[in-house]
Amino acid sequence: MGKRLPMQGEKTIVDHITTGLTKVAAALRSQAWEGGTVRKLTPTQGQILVLLAERATRAVRLNDVADELCLTAATVSDAVITLVEKQLVQKERSAEDRRALVITLTAAGRREAQQTAGWTEVVEAGVKSLTPDEQAVFLRGLTKVIHSLQTQGVISVARMCAGCTYFQPYVHADAARPHHCGLVNKPMGEGQLRLDCPDFVPVGDVDRPRRWEAFVSGGEGR
Ligand code: SF4
Repeated sequence: MGKRLPMQGEKTIVDHITTGLTKVAAALRSQAWEGGTVRKLTPTQGQILVLLAERATRAVRLNDVADELCLTAATVSDAVITLVEKQLVQKERSAEDRRALVITLTAAGRREAQQTAGWTEVVEAGVKSLTPDEQAVFLRGLTKVIHSLQTQGVISVARMCAGCTYFQPYVHADAARPHHCGLVNKPMGEGQLRLDCPDFVPVGDVDRPRRWEAFVSGGEGR
């Protein structure tokens, strides 16, 4: 009988993938600390700068930041106080609701955010090594994992196609581009699914389960 693979029978593919994801998370955390130490920013402060840069066209409140980064309001508040002291972020009254405070980047904050965003480059390089087909499968898998995290209450906001009111899964016969984005009124392929779309609008509670089922069923029974 041939030699058994190490750990054969003890670990499942689910265990191995979960281990892989924790390694990716560890790599990102170490990059965030490394880059942040040079610029005297904690990973949380860096994440807030990057998020504000990505949401530059819309008003962002403290609670929005907490929801999107899965942090407590107190943690975000402390980080923002420090960022304001460093003159990277400013608080101002919302134009839509004068009682609400919104946070935006200063010019120095925008420059800092650009440099900070570089901490994901190591993972990007790995993802680029996948073929387009592998990337599309990976993207679909990540969509499902994020949906599960949302269902478990770990992530409150996921601005992804599968939960968007504009998303119409498997409405086109073209296997390369079976989905449709109603916002831009165009077909889209698996590799074009968004996990963080600025134009995302959450689908209503009534339609959400049906929409998700249509997406995961892969267009069966069309
Ligand atoms: S608006 Fe964005 S999230 Fe919604 S379906 Fe279109 S691309 Fe996807």
